[in-house]
Amino acid sequence: MTTTQTASRATVSDPLDAARVRADFPILQQEDGQGRRLAFLDSAASSQKPAVVIDALAAYYRETNANIHRGVYELSEKATARYEEARHLVAHFVNAASARECVFVRNTTEAINLVAHTWGRRNVRPSDLIVSTVMDHHSNLVPWQMLAEETGAELAHVRVTADGRLDLDHLDELLAREPKLVAFPHVSNSLGTINPAAEIVRRAKAVGAVTLIDGAQSVPHLPTDVQALGCDFLAFSGHKMLGPMGSGVLFGRLELLQAMPPFMGGGGMIRKVELGRSTYADVPARFEAGTPAVADAIGLGAAVEYLQGLGMNAVREHEKVATAYALDRLGEVAGLRLFGPADAGSRAGVISFELDGIHPHDVAAILDGEGVAVRAGHHCCQPLMRELGVVATTRASFYVYNTGEDVDRLVDGLAKAQRIFAV
Ligand code: PLP
Repeated sequence: MTTTQTASRATVSDPLDAARVRADFPILQQEDGQGRRLAFLDSAASSQKPAVVIDALAAYYRETNANIHRGVYELSEKATARYEEARHLVAHFVNAASARECVFVRNTTEAINLVAHTWGRRNVRPSDLIVSTVMDHHSNLVPWQMLAEETGAELAHVRVTADGRLDLDHLDELLAREPKLVAFPHVSNSLGTINPAAEIVRRAKAVGAVTLIDGAQSVPHLPTDVQALGCDFLAFSGHKMLGPMGSGVLFGRLELLQAMPPFMGGGGMIRKVELGRSTYADVPARFEAGTPAVADAIGLGAAVEYLQGLGMNAVREHEKVATAYALDRLGEVAGLRLFGPADAGSRAGVISFELDGIHPHDVAAILDGEGVAVRAGHHCCQPLMRELGVVATTRASFYVYNTGEDVDRLVDGLAKAQRIFAV
């Protein structure tokens, strides 16, 4: 099978013209010393940014830069309007009932910590149960550990099946203990598994639990509808969905957000301040203390508009095609152990694997020499790595700009690694 054949096979039924999409990303137009373009397969860590996002940032600083919400002059009013417009764009993107349900934060980690600090400290009591999962990123484990330590609550984690899915029977066992909170990832950043989020939320709500979805790997890749999901909270990062570093969102159901105390105190989050006490602003301002990352929020708005222009159904279908093709091609590599579900339909565009006899960091270093960027390590999932019996994996992840050729170069690079290590 030649590269040309495989590349065309991968793009034939692709609803996105990934090669055309790629042209929108200035960083992907660069060539290395050998005239090769970068095969960027690390979007699960951070995506690249299209020119429209970079331009939105530059335009903000060139034309609209001023602190928001406080100025009475035109520039500040313009900046405020753009910032709030971005909130509306994001709210629409995840189908929130109101833009007030979307709090701008720096990233998924901050969003989850916000919930742990405010909702958690207000609602969690000694011996309450907090459920998360063995496949969670450290961001959805450590904040709950800290909360449990402080409150005396108990932690439990839904197990993962041999084929990399959440064990829903174990979930049911834990739900029988009526947990206060069920927190889980919609998509695993290590296994690529798409978890049945709406079903998990339905079961958790039936026993009265509050639900938090870590959407870091789902919101950028799948159509997202918080009303259909029924979740109480959804956390996601702008930098993984074509937006700027330092942009992120906590969606929270209005009723819950309104009942939550502030996270940080300072300017912008107050109604009235006296020397001894203060009253607080309504949501979402209550949770946005200090000067926010205005340009980054506006850049995230531009990213959301760009993704909507592509169409999130098309984004999902493109990644299904890319993942199916990659699974197919990686299946040809002798000594490759794949982690996570075998079928592309149950996966987002994240593929973790191990190459017999070669350390994942060596695999990644050799691929780097071939102009293929992948990640190697524990992917902030140390408990999951222990469960899989490995210290690290090599991870390739796909997004809107990846083509069949990127997959071919990955497979060619793996063959080279095997030649070098004479495996
Ligand atoms: N949750 C998941 C599933 C992730 O993949 C990541 C990042 O890789 C995070 C949380 C943390 O995201 P951030 O570093 O943007 O806070």
